[in-house]
Amino acid sequence: MFYGALEAGGTKMVCALGDENGTILEQTFIPTTTPDETLSAIIAWFHDKEIASLGVACFGPVDLRRNSPTYGYITTTPKKGWAHVDIVGILKRALGVPVGFDTDVNGSLLGEVTYGQARGLTDAVYITIGTGVGAGVLSGGHLVHGMLHPEFGHIPVVKHPDDTYKGHCPYHGSCFEGMAAGPAIEERWGQKAINLKDDPKVWDIEAHYIAEACTTLIMTLSPQIIILGGGVMHQAQLFPLIREKVKSMVNGYVLNDEFADLDHYIVPASLHDDQGIMGAIKLAIDEVYGVLPHKLPV
Ligand code: ADP
Ligand code: ZN
Repeated sequence: MFYGALEAGGTKMVCALGDENGTILEQTFIPTTTPDETLSAIIAWFHDKEIASLGVACFGPVDLRRNSPTYGYITTTPKKGWAHVDIVGILKRALGVPVGFDTDVNGSLLGEVTYGQARGLTDAVYITIGTGVGAGVLSGGHLVHGMLHPEFGHIPVVKHPDDTYKGHCPYHGSCFEGMAAGPAIEERWGQKAINLKDDPKVWDIEAHYIAEACTTLIMTLSPQIIILGGGVMHQAQLFPLIREKVKSMVNGYVLNDEFADLDHYIVPASLHDDQGIMGAIKLAIDEVYGVLPHKLPV
């Protein structure tokens, strides 16, 4: 059986055909322009693929409440033209197959938990640090939606003592995303993040905010692993800095084996940037087999 997968992003749409093992058999990229143009191109690509179902891991905010009249909609996104788009309904009607749906970050986490380094874990977090910041959360074997879905990028953080930057978030200024997302780095330093590789001050400040967020997660959700992905995390020098700062912030308060081995506790994504699309394949599979709300076998 073949499954369709869509990783819906603000810049591009990744479409893939997958099998029950999460293997990507075919893949294409479609730029995100207007909803009409973009969704038509997605539908045309899947049309002759004979998929049993489609899984959509989507940028948001999105409505994940199955009993809501706007279930499957992108809700209040600032992305021009995409607010209040019934992405699940449109794809379901056009393709005539069941459609599984979750946030992009829950999709990436589901990829890691099903096919990657978090297999067998019941409690795990995936944080993306890219154009925005967000986190997918698995707690007690369930992907967490809660009242809406977590908006972990917007937690308050304590400023780095040397940081005078006001923050980039239009809602909160200096929240985690406002201080640590790619556009915040670029506004703070006046250059592309990728060109700042050799400036240690940049990554010390960046690691500070990510370490604060990891410490918040450790103290609230007690995950068994924290996976860090997204464009900014391609700066591999961040990992040792973050681990060192987390250790210092936790300050000996958490004592157990997983946390003691920080090199295997705070880690990069393991699926070569395919975690999102592979998670979307799993969303498609779960929609057919009724594994809801994404209760994972443990
Ligand atoms: P998106 O969040 O739009 O899906 P990405 O995760 O690639 O896409 O994030 C894009 C952001 O990450 C940009 O702000 C960019 O500056 C930053 N970025 C991308 N690649 C790198 C890199 N190698 N080093 C540092 N920052 C990067
Ligand atoms: Zn914010």
